[in-house]
Amino acid sequence: NKQIILKNYVTGFPKETDMEMVSSSIKVKVPEGSKAVLVKNLYLSCDPYMRLKMTKPETPTYFTEYPLGSVITGYGVSKVLDSEHPNFKEGDLVWGTTRWEEFSLITMTKMLRKITYTDVPLSYYIGILGMPGISAYVGFFEICSPKKGERVYVSAASGAVGQLVGQFAKSIGCCVVGSAGSKEKVDLLKSKFGFDEAFNYKEEHDLDAALKRYFPEGIDIYFENVGGAMLDAVLLNMRDHGRISVCGLISQYNKDKPEGVHNLFCLVSKRIEMKGFLVFDHWHLYPQFLEATIKRIKEGKMVYVEDIVEGLENAPSALIGLFTGKNVGKQVVVVAHE
Ligand code: NDP
Repeated sequence: NKQIILKNYVTGFPKETDMEMVSSSIKVKVPEGSKAVLVKNLYLSCDPYMRLKMTKPETPTYFTEYPLGSVITGYGVSKVLDSEHPNFKEGDLVWGTTRWEEFSLITMTKMLRKITYTDVPLSYYIGILGMPGISAYVGFFEICSPKKGERVYVSAASGAVGQLVGQFAKSIGCCVVGSAGSKEKVDLLKSKFGFDEAFNYKEEHDLDAALKRYFPEGIDIYFENVGGAMLDAVLLNMRDHGRISVCGLISQYNKDKPEGVHNLFCLVSKRIEMKGFLVFDHWHLYPQFLEATIKRIKEGKMVYVEDIVEGLENAPSALIGLFTGKNVGKQVVVVAHE
């Protein structure tokens, strides 16, 4: 059973040598009466929060760290090979928390969901129909209370979450602008995801001026994925009573000391509501989210772009690529085809 383990706690930018591929044996039957399931992992997800779990324990990241030498855990789509759990049987397709290995014996079965709609790409269950999907849904609809005609700005807009926020915002008649880190991504935002405007933030010397160009009347809603200088520039361009949904701050995850934010007084002067959220508090909304999103996919009203890498051995570099913007769309690793 090939596995990827965390070899060193990460400081600064993650390196491939912080992870290692090892091999071990695994039982081919689930121990009787154990309530566990044995799965073959098909697709594994690379998500930015995983970097925070690689930070040494004494650093406060608010995520429980991976124990050193342990197999990396994360979201995945898997096929059940054997089960002692009444809710799962051999042949079932499932998604949820698994490990970065070929086969996993899963005892935490409450983190697994059976896949009922199998007529969409199965990898969607770690993207548009999985954790990033419901994050976009909750972070936009629940946190921002959006209204038709409002002006919405999304950073890291072509990624796993951002591309969906843009599409949700368009679906209710908002005007949406996104930023991303390459021409290819900017083109995707406009041609594929229906953003009204998009720009490459890496080509802008002055983010404040760029935002003024795209939002001459200011921003009603900001969906925050990156933090740092971008947040500071956004604060200057928010409208009175604007809302900021803080989904993530990826520009800060590799820094020992997070950067300061200078323009916080805008929260006061403009009466802005800025609210963070963790998707884990909102799983009760998953059934309604799944039904609505499946319907929109089947009607051709929502699309999803994935960046698919083949082979478990390539998972570490794929994860690291999230922090250089190498991924174009949701980063997926294929471990095995069904
Ligand atoms: P993405 O698929 O968007 O991948 C990460 C992207 O972030 C990269 O492609 C890159 O795009 C951009 N990026 C990387 N480093 C920087 C940087 N220094 N400055 C600006 N942009 C950078 O990831 P996700 O969609 O999965 O995640 C987006 C955000 O949402 C993250 O902050 C993540 O932590 C957060 N998140 C939060 C959840 C919650 O429950 N609150 C749940 C899920 C995700 P580019 O080329 O455009 O720079």
